[in-house]
Amino acid sequence: MKLKSPVGTRDIVAPESWIWAKVIAEFSRNCGNAGYDWLLTPIFEDTQVFQRAVGGSTDIVQKEMYDFQDKSGRNFSLRPEETASVVRSFIEHRPAVLPWKVHYWGPMFRYERPQAGRYRQFYQLGIEALGVEDPSIDVEVISILWDFLVELGITSMTLRINSLGDALCRENYLESLHNFLLTKQTSLCDAHRDRISENPQRVLDCKTQQCIEATRGAPEHYLFLCDPCRDHFEAVKEQLGAMGIPFVHDPRLVRGLDYYTRTTFEISSGILEGAQNALGGGGRYDGLVEEMGGPPTPAIGFSIGLERLVSALGFDSASKVTLTYSEKIPQIFVVDLAQRGPANLLFRELRRNNMRVMCEYGRRSAKAQFRSADRSQASIAIIVGQEEADRQCVVVRPLKHKEILLPLIESYGKSNEDANMQGLKASDQIPGFQLQSGQAEIGIDKVVGLLNSVLLPALPTSRVANSTSVIGIGT
Ligand SMILES: [Zn+2]
Ligand SMILES: [Zn+2]
Repeated sequence: MKLKSPVGTRDIVAPESWIWAKVIAEFSRNCGNAGYDWLLTPIFEDTQVFQRAVGGSTDIVQKEMYDFQDKSGRNFSLRPEETASVVRSFIEHRPAVLPWKVHYWGPMFRYERPQAGRYRQFYQLGIEALGVEDPSIDVEVISILWDFLVELGITSMTLRINSLGDALCRENYLESLHNFLLTKQTSLCDAHRDRISENPQRVLDCKTQQCIEATRGAPEHYLFLCDPCRDHFEAVKEQLGAMGIPFVHDPRLVRGLDYYTRTTFEISSGILEGAQNALGGGGRYDGLVEEMGGPPTPAIGFSIGLERLVSALGFDSASKVTLTYSEKIPQIFVVDLAQRGPANLLFRELRRNNMRVMCEYGRRSAKAQFRSADRSQASIAIIVGQEEADRQCVVVRPLKHKEILLPLIESYGKSNEDANMQGLKASDQIPGFQLQSGQAEIGIDKVVGLLNSVLLPALPTSRVANSTSVIGIGT
């Protein structure tokens, strides 16, 4: 039997995996700056956590959850989304200081029909802010999402917002919508024709042409908002406008989960196609904490689908883009002609000085090692020869960018005045520095200094090729 990853899952391998690492790190940095701590929750929870939060009648809970019993017969589920887990965690820890602001990233699991761009194990980034009713937190959350996507270089973005009201005003609206849908029942798609009563709002979210046509002219939620809900929504719009974040009010934006109240939002990009163009979204869930057994606590959050985001950046494995992602390209290749001892020490010294370094294994010939060095695309080779090693020296040879690196190496070994022009101290120099035929011999104790202060900063900064993205490298 040939072993493969399960249907609907995949390995994320280099170089794409490096893009993921970068996106996640940038996200964490952005959230940390805004006071959102990192929260890690288990990937499985008591099944009830999701039944109560996501809603027992939803497709997610009924058809898509990975449920299992552990060896002592307890019922667990792999998390299909993160908000439920965050709320469970909030209730369990009862933080003394509000708001409780957290961010997360990790795998989620849904047993969906496998299709392009959809996975059964998929990844989300997101934030949640619990304990604030003030509309300014809505605007903070939305702007963090917006700014993060802008920073990654996503273009043609549209922010749509809506208000779903609260328990008070929603009832009137749902009744009106329900009555409207009854008059259109025969025109709805198969999935919704007989399910209007369960949650009439979900019909508005349906992507089939039938439902879209049939719900033209449906009553708009906005007209049913009570005064506090309307004031809240107006404040969100006003503050977004004041921040210069463009948005459209989309009365049809309802989102798929039952727990949303008041503000909902979604950001899509024109660079992605059709129904799959949403990059991230979220909204308020003011009733959820209480529903799950906690104190009444207003809350809001968003999540981003990592697969789609990476694909929007042009890096999905199906794309034809040639990747030259230089975070995986070594800067230095150690060519070992002295059989490991000094080369091992040097390799360790370089990586501990935050340099990307590579070498060859298996005592191969000098010729074979230089071939590997070229293939690795490293910029600089450091050659450890037996004779040089005996004199505590190594040879530094530029492989790429010779025209930049050679003059720098040369000036490093010259007079103090020249060295000063390169920003070096006289003590950085070595007696007996020798430059010949495009390489230089240098003391093994000085090589880190030469690399760190002179050669590596001179290398051109690489970027991901053939992409509109601006994820800079080496920043
Ligand atoms: Zn439908
Ligand atoms: Zn209301």
